Amino acid sequence: MSDMNQWLHEKLLELNVTDSMKQPDGFTRLSYTEEEKSAHQAFRSIAEELELDVQSDQAGNLWATWMISTDAPTIATGSHLDTVHNGGGYDGAAGVLCSLASIKIMKDEGITPQKNISVVCFASEESARFGVSTIGSKAVSGLLNQDELADVPDADGITIREATEHFGLTWETFNQAERRIDELESFLELHIEQGTQIEDQGAEVGVVRGVACPIRLKVTAYGMANHTGTTPMNKRIDAFAGISPLIPFVEEQANQLNQSSDLPLVATVSTVHLKPNAMNVIPGEVQLGIDIRSVDDSLKRELADRIMTYCKNREKESKFTIEVETLVDNASIFLDEDIQQKLQKACDQTGYRAIELDSGAGHDVMNMAVKWPSGLIFIPCKEGISHHPEEYASIEDLYKGSLVIAEYLRIETGVEHENRNRNHRTS
Ligand SMILES: [Zn+2]
Repeated sequence: MSDMNQWLHEKLLELNVTDSMKQPDGFTRLSYTEEEKSAHQAFRSIAEELELDVQSDQAGNLWATWMISTDAPTIATGSHLDTVHNGGGYDGAAGVLCSLASIKIMKDEGITPQKNISVVCFASEESARFGVSTIGSKAVSGLLNQDELADVPDADGITIREATEHFGLTWETFNQAERRIDELESFLELHIEQGTQIEDQGAEVGVVRGVACPIRLKVTAYGMANHTGTTPMNKRIDAFAGISPLIPFVEEQANQLNQSSDLPLVATVSTVHLKPNAMNVIPGEVQLGIDIRSVDDSLKRELADRIMTYCKNREKESKFTIEVETLVDNASIFLDEDIQQKLQKACDQTGYRAIELDSGAGHDVMNMAVKWPSGLIFIPCKEGISHHPEEYASIEDLYKGSLVIAEYLRIETGVEHENRNRNHRTS
């Protein structure tokens, strides 16, 4: 194993606070817990080994900065270290690790950038504990509504406010983690793909164009609950039987829209609640949750419209009533084109084949992109599996990602190309 691969291997274990990545139950580091804090501590010690200046902000994010000059602009790169329940050791950790590794690569090569570089480890990206995602990066971007979040509880009834204070933060000053627009110049995140497009297309890296944000609909059908044994078939208003054709309808329409569009759309009837949900009672009320995603916002709206029309027609031809409520309708985030080009160039110069793709999942970068020019790169993960103990990315792919970030940082911080060591690539 080369020195750099050995380093990546060791630091991957340290960031995951483990001595083996093979964990049958995976990793559980929920938001603002002792487990997340231990991983942050590991981040701090690795960053200090790299002689970076490490600061924690008011939201618990860590900023490890290679300070060139207080007058120079600062660019940032990073991701998160928290996980879902029984998650993998790469979602988030890969981006933090590769960002740190890119600093090591630049320092080992004796490069001095013209700008400050911060490696940021965002707190609490996953929604697993509180049902709220990307808390740390929302605070940094000024997108966090503290009043709304303060009393949101976890499964044990501990609120976000209590959890963050237990973590060592002060709720009153939490939003002071927000950075002014002139404090940062740009942001880059690396993440595992959580899909297989890179591998399917024979490439090594993915340069992300947009992050698809969802439209979420709640469809409620009201029928009449009654005894399954005594109510004849012609006297029933079965809400479940009545609304269930909507499920294949959503799938059919999504397939159809994909045929007529260049940009992909995905739609899922992903939740169902029946009332009363008893073996001997006809379903009187059904709630379906529908999640629709595409970076093409008009395509998402088209499907949402078709669903609403379908429900209206269905209501007319039957005895039950249907309500459609839009829970979420967030416009998709488009990443900075200039950064995409620089990432493409960084891939060309390191010799790695990159494809362009979109992200179906949300990441910290979508908050950062609201305020600063931002980019996102993907490295492959085995079979696209994530949020699962079998999540896996190879050390070789982590190394490639680190080299691409290092190359991008050279471009972004104005380091002359001649300074590069061309022999850095593994075969
Ligand atoms: Zn993640």
